[in-house]
Amino acid sequence: MKKVVIAGGGTAGWIAAAALSRQLGRLIEIVLVESDEIGTVGVGESTIPTARSFNALLGLDEPEFMRATQATFKLGIAFEDWARVGDRYVHSFGQVGTSTWIAEFHHFWLEARARGLAGEIGDYCFELQAAEAGKFATGSDTTINYAYHLDATLYGRFLRARSESHGVTRVEGRIASVEQDPENGFIRALAMESGERVEGDLFIDCTGFRGLLIEQTLRAGYEDWGQWLATDSALAVQTGSVGPALPYTRAIAHRAGWQWRIPLQHRVGNGLVYASAHMEDDDARALLIEKLEGEAITEPRLIRYRTGRRRKTWDKNCIALGLASGFVEPLESTSIHLIMIAVTRLMQLFPFSGISDAVVNRFNEQARSELESIRDFIILHYKLTERDDSAFWRQCRDMAVPDSLAERIGLFREAGFAYQASEDLFRVDSWVQVMLGQRLQPLGHHRVGELMGSERIQQSLADLKGKIAAAVQRMPTHQAFIDRYCAPASA
Ligand code: FAD
Repeated sequence: MKKVVIAGGGTAGWIAAAALSRQLGRLIEIVLVESDEIGTVGVGESTIPTARSFNALLGLDEPEFMRATQATFKLGIAFEDWARVGDRYVHSFGQVGTSTWIAEFHHFWLEARARGLAGEIGDYCFELQAAEAGKFATGSDTTINYAYHLDATLYGRFLRARSESHGVTRVEGRIASVEQDPENGFIRALAMESGERVEGDLFIDCTGFRGLLIEQTLRAGYEDWGQWLATDSALAVQTGSVGPALPYTRAIAHRAGWQWRIPLQHRVGNGLVYASAHMEDDDARALLIEKLEGEAITEPRLIRYRTGRRRKTWDKNCIALGLASGFVEPLESTSIHLIMIAVTRLMQLFPFSGISDAVVNRFNEQARSELESIRDFIILHYKLTERDDSAFWRQCRDMAVPDSLAERIGLFREAGFAYQASEDLFRVDSWVQVMLGQRLQPLGHHRVGELMGSERIQQSLADLKGKIAAAVQRMPTHQAFIDRYCAPASA
């Protein structure tokens, strides 16, 4: 395996090219094929904290990366109108309180709450309080867990420049067909409309939803999750900024889905996600425009998708990444993370001496369990609604969920327990913040907190809250920090 061909130059293609060329570039040759005429999906601007470790693996300088992609900092997601219209909670990236080996913080908090001694759970999370105050700072003397909002097109350009400087060759043009070995079905070459043939040993399918290699050629199969995640459409539009950039994404529910707002340095990304069975495209467009805060600088663009996963993300000598490998809607901004984690796994399991079924199975199994656990986390937001104001929300509330999720909901409802299994992306803090935010009140909790007298528990909580409030007070505003740290020279 000497020559890797990446088909597609969206976020997935260029992430793969940048990582492979930086880490394995002296061992393999890399070619990327993309078509400017076809273009990219053009969305995908909110990330999660794992992006930071991936950037470190690429050797990126943070201010340079943020300047180039007009990025802002993200401390979490604010969910509005989800459990009930008028509700609001923040799923932050922070640690909530301090846990002990015997019980997580929320058990102590539930005990204190039952005794009338505690405030909101978010009072005990630094990142959440900083987000609410519009504050941000990072540096050697601060421990803060954060991610980025970035411009998807600029991100692709930035990674392209780095990949090319590490020796990646880019081929422009449309792939007309895919040539396979007649004996074993392995992919041998991409035949371009120009007549050129791009041969390779290993092919990475980053062609987006169409899955030109993995599905249209190899027929790897697709498992549809539409019965649990009913949205299948999005309208995306960019607007000018109307104020300082918030350090969090907003996810605002509406009668047939939700709307995102992602603040960048130079503009805001907006989109309306909806279930076409419950909302006409024209109504969605009208609702999107009605709710915009700034002036639209692009036309709303319609994107259709099918939630689910490719049955085999690695089949023969082809590995699918990004949208070609499956898609769970963008509610928790997990797709770019999934690309990064899959590329990392590919580099760890790289088939230098040929394709091994055992390696392929291991790769596919990890991809399956990661995506299923993310799927469950997303379904949780819909299932735990109390909204009764539309057929869409009634359907979400009344649907049967996967057993794996039903078990988690039962465990929290009955005893207040939450857990992070080995393949789970989301930590206990995430599950707890969303379950409580969605009004799932546990009937029981661990009673170790009873061993603390009321005075001690109240004092500990007050101390923690006070320390967090003081630390937030000392921080600069998010906008001021960006202006100093990573604003492009012309801004
Ligand atoms: P694409 O961007 O579609 O790229 C496909 C590439 O293949 C293009 O370069 C195209 O030119 C090329 N191509 C296709 N066919 C051919 C051909 N025949 N010949 C030559 N080239 C070809 N992810 C997040 O992490 N956070 C988010 O906030 C987020 N929001 C999203 C919102 C929506 C509505 C959607 C749909 C997705 C969102 N995502 C998000 C997912 C994210 O957009 C994708 O994971 C990411 O952009 C990767 O896309 P891609 O590179 O797989 O596909």
